[in-house]
Amino acid sequence: MESSPTIGIIGLGLIGGSLGLDLKQAGYRVLGVARRAVTRQQALAQGVVDQAAAELALLQPADLVVICTPIAAILPTLDALVPWLRPQAVVTDVGSVKGEIVAAATQRWANFVGGHPMAGKATAGLESAEAGLFRGKPYVLTPIAQTRPTAAEALITLIHQVGAILHQCSPEQHDRAVAWISHLPVMVSSSLIQACGQEPDPTIRQLAVALASSGFRDTSRVGGGVPELGLLMARYNRSALLASLHSYQQNLAHLCDLMAAEDWAALEAHLSAAQQARPAYLDPPPERPRS
Ligand code: NAP
Repeated sequence: MESSPTIGIIGLGLIGGSLGLDLKQAGYRVLGVARRAVTRQQALAQGVVDQAAAELALLQPADLVVICTPIAAILPTLDALVPWLRPQAVVTDVGSVKGEIVAAATQRWANFVGGHPMAGKATAGLESAEAGLFRGKPYVLTPIAQTRPTAAEALITLIHQVGAILHQCSPEQHDRAVAWISHLPVMVSSSLIQACGQEPDPTIRQLAVALASSGFRDTSRVGGGVPELGLLMARYNRSALLASLHSYQQNLAHLCDLMAAEDWAALEAHLSAAQQARPAYLDPPPERPRS
C-alpha cells in the first residue's frame, strides 16, 4: 500500500465517525458513505471525512474500506461494495460479533479481515462520535486460515494509527470472550433495572428511584443503553451469550443458597475472590510485541 492510503468508511455513526476523525487527523484521505443527506453534511462540517456521498461508487479509489454499519447490514453492504473495489483493496468491518461475518465476508472478498474496536458509548450516531475514542482501547482482529497476511498488516497499521491496542484471535474465540465481558453485562444490567421495577410497593419503588446514586448509575449503564444493540448481541451471538447467561444464573443460585444457609464465611470468600479478580479486567496486560 502507498504511504498515505485512501480510506473509505461506510456508516458514519458513532464508530465510523470516530474513526474518520482520527484517520483524517493522522493525514489519511477519508471518503465517507452515508444514506442520509443530513449525516453527510454533518460529517463534512465536523471534519470526519474529506468527501461524502450516498453511493458506494465514491469508494472506487479506496485502498482500505471500513464497514461501520449495524451488524445486519454488513454482508449486504459488502455485496453492494464489491463491484466498486480495486482488486487490491482491503475491507474490514467493526461489527461486535464476528462468527457470523468473517467466513462469509472472506468468501465474498478475499482481502477481508474481521475487526472489532472495543470502544463504545451508550449513545449512537454521528453526534456521539469523538476523536481519540479508540486510544488505549483493545482492537481485535479475527483472521481465519484464508485471511491474507498483507490485508491483516494494512489493518494493523491503521489500528496503531488510532492508538488502539491490537489483539488477534479466531472469530469464535472473540465471540465467546465478548459474550462474557460485553454481552452478558448488558443482559445482567438490563435485568437489574427490570428487577428493581418489580418492587410491588409503589412507595418503596419511588423511594428506590429517589435514592439511586453512583452504584446504580455504574451497574445500570450498559443495560440502559439503546435496545437495538442488546438485541443484536442476542441474535448474532446467541449460543455464546446463552452459555454465559446459564453460568451466571448458576452463580446467582449459589449466592441465594449461601444466604439462605447464612453461610457468611463462604459468602465472604465469594466476595473476596471477586474483589481480587476485578483489577485484571480493568487493567489488562499491554499488547504483546509483534513477531
Ligand atoms: P450508529 O452510531 O448507529 O452508526 C451506524 C451508521 O450506519 C448510522 O449512522 C447509519 O447512517 C448507517 N446505517 C444504518 N443502517 C444502515 C444500513 N442498513 N445500511 C447502511 N448504513 C446504515 O452505530 P455504531 O454504534 O457506530 O455501530 C456501528 C457498528 O459498530 C455496528 O456493527 C456495531 O456492532 C459496531 N460497534 C459498536 C460499538 C458501540 O459501542 N456502539 C462498539 C464497537 C463496535 P445513515 O442512516 O446516515 O446511513
